[in-house]
Amino acid sequence: MTSTPLPVPVSVVTHPLVLHKLTLLRQRETSTSSFRSLLAEISMLMAYEVTRDLPLVYEDIHTPIGAMRAPRIDGKKVVLVSVLRAGNGMLDGMLRILPSARVGHVGLYRDPETLEAVEYYLRMPRELGDRDVVIIDPMLATGNSAVAAVDRVKALGPKSLKFVCLLAAPEGIRNLQSVHPSVPIFTAAVDERLDDHGYILPGLGDAGDRLFGTK
Ligand code: URA
Repeated sequence: MTSTPLPVPVSVVTHPLVLHKLTLLRQRETSTSSFRSLLAEISMLMAYEVTRDLPLVYEDIHTPIGAMRAPRIDGKKVVLVSVLRAGNGMLDGMLRILPSARVGHVGLYRDPETLEAVEYYLRMPRELGDRDVVIIDPMLATGNSAVAAVDRVKALGPKSLKFVCLLAAPEGIRNLQSVHPSVPIFTAAVDERLDDHGYILPGLGDAGDRLFGTK
């Protein structure tokens, strides 16, 4: 008998700085410029949690005063994969913490009728087999884009794969976990539910529009 593996528990990053900034970000009167900076700041703080398990190696170094064995991160550079277009708002913050990360892009839009994810762009660093990959997309709503992005990246055989968002709906978590139970999900909050148009309630509205001032 085969059993379905239990999904990896969702990590909710509840640091007070993240929660405070998230409240500011959600507010409808927050300007485009503040939205951008807040999203970058929260992403920086989330990068700290997401990279907590990166392996270390010790090497011999010399400070101006003496010799010591000191840790540094082992292995090849992390790959951040931004789900266009709103993922780019998290990319800026994450790159401040991981300035040497490689970056991939997956362009997906939601068909407004079916809410299915439609791919229009894909550009990824080569040879993911030795690399830890982190997919970033602020809103885990229906989960259809997340599933499509994870499908795409998983097919390239990364060493490890995580999914990071800012806000998640329970429906999106269920969808992603049902298809990819082994992919850890990081979020700053789990909201109530989706509305009839697939928006997260209470959420923050359309992350892409708020980030780029397109509405
Ligand atoms: N995408 C958004 O930008 N906002 C939502 O609430 C859901 C999906």
